[in-house]
Amino acid sequence: MNREEIIILGAGLAGLSAAYHLKSGYALFEKDSEIGGMARSIHKDGYIFDYDGHLLHFRNKYTFNLASELLNGNLAPHKRNSWVYSKGIFTRYPFQANFYGLPNPVVKDCLMGLIKARLLNISPANSSGNFENWIMKTFGEGIANHFMLPYNRKFWTIEPKELTCEWLDGFVPVPELEDTVTGAISDNTKPYGYNSRFWYPVKGGISELAKGFSERIRNIHVSKKAVTIDQHRKEVVFEDATIKKFKNMITTMPLPELSNLLVDMPLDIRHAFSMLRWTSIFVLNIGVKSDNLAEKHWVYYPEENVIFYRIGFPTSFSMDVAPERKISIYAEIAYSDTKKIDKNEAASKAISDLRRCGIISDESSVEICLPMDIKYGYALYDSNRKHAVGVIKDYLEKFGIYTIGRYGSWRYMSMEDVILEGKKIAEQIKG
Ligand SMILES: Cc1cc2nc3c(=O)[nH]c(=O)nc-3n(C[C@H](O)[C@H](O)[C@H](O)COP(=O)(O)OP(=O)(O)OC[C@H]3O[C@@H](n4cnc5c(N)ncnc54)[C@H](O)[C@@H]3O)c2cc1C
Repeated sequence: MNREEIIILGAGLAGLSAAYHLKSGYALFEKDSEIGGMARSIHKDGYIFDYDGHLLHFRNKYTFNLASELLNGNLAPHKRNSWVYSKGIFTRYPFQANFYGLPNPVVKDCLMGLIKARLLNISPANSSGNFENWIMKTFGEGIANHFMLPYNRKFWTIEPKELTCEWLDGFVPVPELEDTVTGAISDNTKPYGYNSRFWYPVKGGISELAKGFSERIRNIHVSKKAVTIDQHRKEVVFEDATIKKFKNMITTMPLPELSNLLVDMPLDIRHAFSMLRWTSIFVLNIGVKSDNLAEKHWVYYPEENVIFYRIGFPTSFSMDVAPERKISIYAEIAYSDTKKIDKNEAASKAISDLRRCGIISDESSVEICLPMDIKYGYALYDSNRKHAVGVIKDYLEKFGIYTIGRYGSWRYMSMEDVILEGKKIAEQIKG
């Protein structure tokens, strides 16, 4: 077989995994000068900042074994220690199982709402409706109003009733009523949800994973941006004017970008691309002088008066990511077409909110603040997404083009998910 019958676009984890599992017969092209895509780390002034918090969660033995091999033992397990900050205090995550310490009227609201919801809805809430309905039916009004609705508005930047439940897939834990009562009257440390344990490289940040792939695969070409894809002629043109023919293509670039590269598309396909919506994430990677190592891994902020929806402490995953007597923090701010932000103002508000919330002692302790603007953060799961993505995928597959990965499948996917999708498509193409 011609070595380059399969062209892979994008050396993020999906593209790298496809190449790794194909073993031969492909060429992989990446537009940037380095590989890793979203799962990359930046070295600056002795700090190692990931693009944003990037922790490994494994639901699948295969990916755990693969990541362990790729990282060659450079992987440590952690028991999640995450929190919610609201009404001026920290409560354990997930909020729906932990009201202990909140003011009594809030605890009462949450418990009564939950009990009423459970009495009214004997069977679990149907996830075919909108997300707000699911929240109300599953958790009741108290939990909805004190956490679920404000947090999800802030995170998704649109009303939860505009979202479907297609993305849920265990991302929002639903504790038993008895567990929630325990968490209302005592400090409940029982773990919930898919991310109650996670893994992270001991050294080097998350980019070590992509590095592990790249050491095992060949034929990767960086600084090679695809600028036109002629699906009819099965040709791709790169920025440097080189042209490659393909039998099959695996593309991992974001769908809205892909739509600009394809030629002569029928109107209904153009329309499907135009239906896609997303949120962007403005991340501040912050280095702080501190003698106290943060113990918390990450904290959710549902209230509107704090600009970030979540912060995390990479130095609590790995001591290697900051110089001695310094810690690092990432603060995540969501924005979109419907919720715009001024990035300079957002950065200074985030620093002052960190001080106001007691995370840093004063602004002068911040010695570095590196903003990362992630244009395509999360695909928005509105009522058009599923149909639009289906139409696009079906159209492209007629030309032997497979669009995969978090932004190629336009889905809420973890690193593990995209690695598995890369494997699946490689096996499908190889037959
Ligand atoms: C804010 C945030 C936090 C996250 N946290 C976690 C976490 O804690 N744990 C977890 O498991 N997952 C997390 N994820 C998800 C994880 O980052 C992704 O699932 C995964 O990295 C996506 O890999 P990918 O290869 O599909 O896409 P990408 O990493 O985006 O790779 C696509 C590649 O295509 C390249 N490309 C684009 N256009 C072209 C072109 N024209 N020509 C050639 N190349 C091109 C890009 O440069 C990029 O390298 C997070 C995601 C976000 C946004």
